[in-house]
Amino acid sequence: MIVLESAVEFRAHCETLRQEGPLGLVPTMGFLHAGHVSLIDQARAQSRHVAVTIFVNPAQFGPREDLSRYPRDLQGDLAKCQAAGVAVAFAPTSNETLYPPGFQTYVEPGPLAAPLEGERRPGHFRGVCTVVAKLFTLSRADAAFFGEKDFQQLRVVQQMTTDLDLGTQIVPCPIVRESDGLAMSSRNAYLSADERKRAVSLSRGIGIAQALYATSERRPSFLIGAAMEPMRMADLRIDYVALADPNTLLPPETPQGNSRLLLAAFCGATRLIDNAPLEP
Ligand code: AMP
Repeated sequence: MIVLESAVEFRAHCETLRQEGPLGLVPTMGFLHAGHVSLIDQARAQSRHVAVTIFVNPAQFGPREDLSRYPRDLQGDLAKCQAAGVAVAFAPTSNETLYPPGFQTYVEPGPLAAPLEGERRPGHFRGVCTVVAKLFTLSRADAAFFGEKDFQQLRVVQQMTTDLDLGTQIVPCPIVRESDGLAMSSRNAYLSADERKRAVSLSRGIGIAQALYATSERRPSFLIGAAMEPMRMADLRIDYVALADPNTLLPPETPQGNSRLLLAAFCGATRLIDNAPLEP
């Protein structure tokens, strides 16, 4: 595995790798866990070579968010990439590698980025789209692998890739969970032992709503209310619980099996998200 910090070198190395066959790209912010590794595995299964990017993208953090304290472990990340068979890890150590002095052009996503995370985190998806577009342009990857853990991000990136003819196939990958159901996330590292126990209430809420849907409950307010209950009991501060059409991300008139239940809540100071279709 080769580790690169320079964008010019990353572009050149990807060019070389692509001559041998399809290149898969896995963009990450590092502090890798089994969810990230599942993306790498999926990329390996579908590509000749895999590129992983490790970059805590400042453009997708709001002014009151956790950019400066976002967990980092570059050496651990590189060991995991190496073990997973990654060909190149692009890990810029300076923000100026991707945002040099004078940088001024951003990718502005459309209505898919407006509700849910977009409403709570203004500018977040603009930052995501900008860095992802740059990583696609540098790597010219044949396919890029994104987790359904960040379902709205996946949809926004799919739309951007279509709209801007970026030519990289977007491959959605399932959510990897801890044994009790908590969706794996780099931010889980912030949780105290007590918070870690209470954090399972997000996936519990999903399970309850899915069970209710299976008994033919179709009233959105009942499904959403049921999903909120475990988080209330565990003293989480709910940011939102919503049902969304998986294509438009708008509330469905009548919930369907593929309607997505999306949740965001603060467990102590840590903001957690999760989602699943009503019919698992
Ligand atoms: P991040 O490092 O949080 O920006 O995530 C990088 C990629 O890994 C994104 O496509 C995420 O959706 C994906 N990812 C994060 N957590 C998980 C998980 N638990 N299961 C599957 N994919 C994940």
